Amino acid sequence: MLYAYELHCHTNEASRCGEVSGAEQARAHKAAGYTGICITDHFFNGNSGIPRDLPWEERIDLHFRGYEAAKEEGDRIGLQVFFGIEVKPLSLAAEFLVFRLPREWWKAHPDMLEWDHETFAMEAHRAGGFLIHCHPYRQAPYLPPTVYLYPDCVDAVEVINCRQRGSQAAYNRQAYEYAKKYDKPMTCGGDNHGSARVDYPMGGIWSPRILRDEEDLCELIQNRQHFLKGTQYLFDDGI
Ligand SMILES: [Zn+2]
Ligand SMILES: [Zn+2]
Repeated sequence: MLYAYELHCHTNEASRCGEVSGAEQARAHKAAGYTGICITDHFFNGNSGIPRDLPWEERIDLHFRGYEAAKEEGDRIGLQVFFGIEVKPLSLAAEFLVFRLPREWWKAHPDMLEWDHETFAMEAHRAGGFLIHCHPYRQAPYLPPTVYLYPDCVDAVEVINCRQRGSQAAYNRQAYEYAKKYDKPMTCGGDNHGSARVDYPMGGIWSPRILRDEEDLCELIQNRQHFLKGTQYLFDDGI
């Protein structure tokens, strides 16, 4: 028996580009047969929907609202909901999915928007964080044309991203080769921003066991006990 978990998912409570609420994401993934999802809304240095002029701690609390909405609905309908954040340190190209860091850690570092990728990775790891470099080869208007890789900063690489962006399959294949070259655990992420369309691509991983929490999820990936969903996106540019 294998259990489906989505690792990369957005809500309109916290991501400016999110099209549906956390509760709707929970319902959509439950309907699609998932056991659990990770809500990974964009942080303040990315496409965040949280007002900039509020006190730092209040901004962090508001950021958590997408996750909380999904969790509340997930608890009701029987879907596990885990927490992560998609960060883009110093507004450069690379984006990391960050797991296993509590709300207090985010609140304790109001200076983190000034951190570069190495500093962010060092601080996050020191606190027990787990970092996945998502869509490392993506080319898009909001990213500079250069690809930045941080093999020593990340714990895993998202080699399959299911969100359509130009030559998506080619970006995914390059990410796959990169992870192989540096012997990094590989992940897949739907990068689902929500849509009324039922066939909106969903990704993630298959787990051979029901996971307890974020800690368990990261261990599973670290120990490479999971299988990739979405392998068709290595060949297919999607919808
Ligand atoms: Zn987005
Ligand atoms: Zn994303």
